[in-house]
Amino acid sequence: MVTSTKSSYIFGPVPSRRLGHSLGIDLVPFKTCSYDCIYCQLGTTTNKTIEQKEYVPQEEVIAQLSDKLQTLPPVDYITLSGSGEPTLYSRTASLIDRIKEMTNIPVAVLTNGSLLFKKSVRKAISRADLVIPSLDAGSDPIFQFVNRPYPGMTFDTMVAGIRDFRQEYTGILWLEVFLLDGITATRAGVEEIARQVSAVLPNKVQLNTVTRPPSENSARAVSQARMQHFAEMFEGKAEVIADYRNTHNESRFVASREEVLQLVRRRPCTLDDVSAGLSIHRNEALKYLEHLVHDDEVRIVVREDRCFYVPC
Ligand code: SF4
Repeated sequence: MVTSTKSSYIFGPVPSRRLGHSLGIDLVPFKTCSYDCIYCQLGTTTNKTIEQKEYVPQEEVIAQLSDKLQTLPPVDYITLSGSGEPTLYSRTASLIDRIKEMTNIPVAVLTNGSLLFKKSVRKAISRADLVIPSLDAGSDPIFQFVNRPYPGMTFDTMVAGIRDFRQEYTGILWLEVFLLDGITATRAGVEEIARQVSAVLPNKVQLNTVTRPPSENSARAVSQARMQHFAEMFEGKAEVIADYRNTHNESRFVASREEVLQLVRRRPCTLDDVSAGLSIHRNEALKYLEHLVHDDEVRIVVREDRCFYVPC
């Protein structure tokens, strides 16, 4: 029996450069993942696992989504993502089927791709309209260093799973490539990744880099100019999605951003403080904080290994 451990599995919608307006569904508890990426914006993985199970009760997810759909403004996608790796959720197939019975909004899945070596996982998420696996490395040593996968996971198995999925999947597949200064953001590093990408045959490649506090300080951002340069190495398929500029000016976004700013002005806050203080999902809180940092209204200070947001 699955018990509910948190009040909301649905978050947003928040506008993003990546997916337009997306309503998120969080299918695993914070932070449950098969990887522990050094750049992860959610912090260190506390439950590194490859165990698939019904981490959250599907009936409750569906009930919350049903409520949300009553008042939802137009969105581009309903996205399975959240506090870790969504393909660890064992009932993805029935969840997507049920979402599609409720609405015509396209379903997207953001996945690290690590479980695509399993036929059952490929089959389950093939119901989605858009799937975005990650590919951050071109070799096993870099994969182990950057993604810090569950013990025994190898680069070859992971990338073969993504290639198999591409062969079987008739929907849209974009690959997200996260580049890191001094690690993968070199000509040789990007060429290595581009070779693997061209074997996958994605519809598009989205290049990203660090724009929020990463799990490890060794994960450093690549400048926008160099990202544009690297984008040209992907056969015309790549776009830079790193959020270097504030493009969000919808009134809802601006209002919530103001609430976050007011909270930070009252006292230094961690991401969790903002999330708990305003009863919003961590991913949503991150979006607002990211834009406040870009606008020089808030800055990040590290105290005793914790990131605090303080007014500038
Ligand atoms: S796969 Fe995603 S959620 Fe998991 S550690 Fe990496 S960035 Fe974080």
